[in-house]
Amino acid sequence: MTKIDSKIPEGPVAEKWTNYKAHQKLVNPANKRRLDIIVVGTGLAGASAAASLGEMGFRVFNFCIQDSPRRAHSIAAQGGINAAKNYQNDGDSVYRLFYDTIKGGDYRAREANVYRLAEVSNAIIDQCVAQGVPFARDYGGLFDNRSFGGAFVSRTFYARRQTGQQLLLGCFGALKPQIEKGKIKSGKPAEEKPAEEKPKRKRTGKTEAAGVKEAEETVNRKAKRSRKAKTAKA
Ligand SMILES: Cc1cc2nc3c(=O)[nH]c(=O)nc-3n(C[C@H](O)[C@H](O)[C@H](O)COP(=O)(O)OP(=O)(O)OC[C@H]3O[C@@H](n4cnc5c(N)ncnc54)[C@H](O)[C@@H]3O)c2cc1C
Repeated sequence: MTKIDSKIPEGPVAEKWTNYKAHQKLVNPANKRRLDIIVVGTGLAGASAAASLGEMGFRVFNFCIQDSPRRAHSIAAQGGINAAKNYQNDGDSVYRLFYDTIKGGDYRAREANVYRLAEVSNAIIDQCVAQGVPFARDYGGLFDNRSFGGAFVSRTFYARRQTGQQLLLGCFGALKPQIEKGKIKSGKPAEEKPAEEKPKRKRTGKTEAAGVKEAEETVNRKAKRSRKAKTAKA
């Protein structure tokens, strides 16, 4: 049986990715433009990764099967995006966001990766704001948060009824300048092939187009014969 190796680093759950980041090999800035990176998809994950990597100087190939990177399924995320900023002072923390997310995922998610998500959640909100995402604000002008998805704290940042769309627009806004600068190549993996002729029918051995043509000829022949017969009678 194949065992999937998710390559999660060793160590206690709260330190795995932090330790890994501190010890991984760095890429010399001059070498970044020599490295090709392929990013598949232009949802929130793909588009934001491609935009960031492009801005960091790597050569990025970002495949998109939709007409525009703005049309990914991430548009469905209308409820909002969670972060452990604790703006509402209701006792939220990175650990609580981690725990709620694991519980919300029926304890099936990879714990180290969820912990990392909780850890960087605050930076993600800052990134979205920098990209121009218009999160809802209260009357004082500060970011509003709501309690969403059964959480006991208010940690959800939202843009009323269209968070996913606004997040995608923010990502696209970061992606487009990099595409225009030529740092990111974005598009479909390959040009669509022209439609091939359908295979021959089993019984007659003819192609569908040939069958249609023959049927048309038969109808024309019959019409011609009946016209001739009518003229002869007259
Ligand atoms: C109804 C609904 C509501 C949700 N609400 C929320 C919410 O309120 N808050 C929240 O945080 N999350 C919410 N989520 C979850 C959230 O939307 C997703 O977890 C998130 O958008 C996933 O982003 P993604 O970039 O990984 O995937 P996607 O947005 O699905 O992007 C995947 C991309 O990969 C492309 N792709 C796939 N295969 C290929 C291929 N072979 N070649 C090229 N491209 C390919 C796709 O076309 C697409 O562009 C919701 C999800 C759903 C379904």
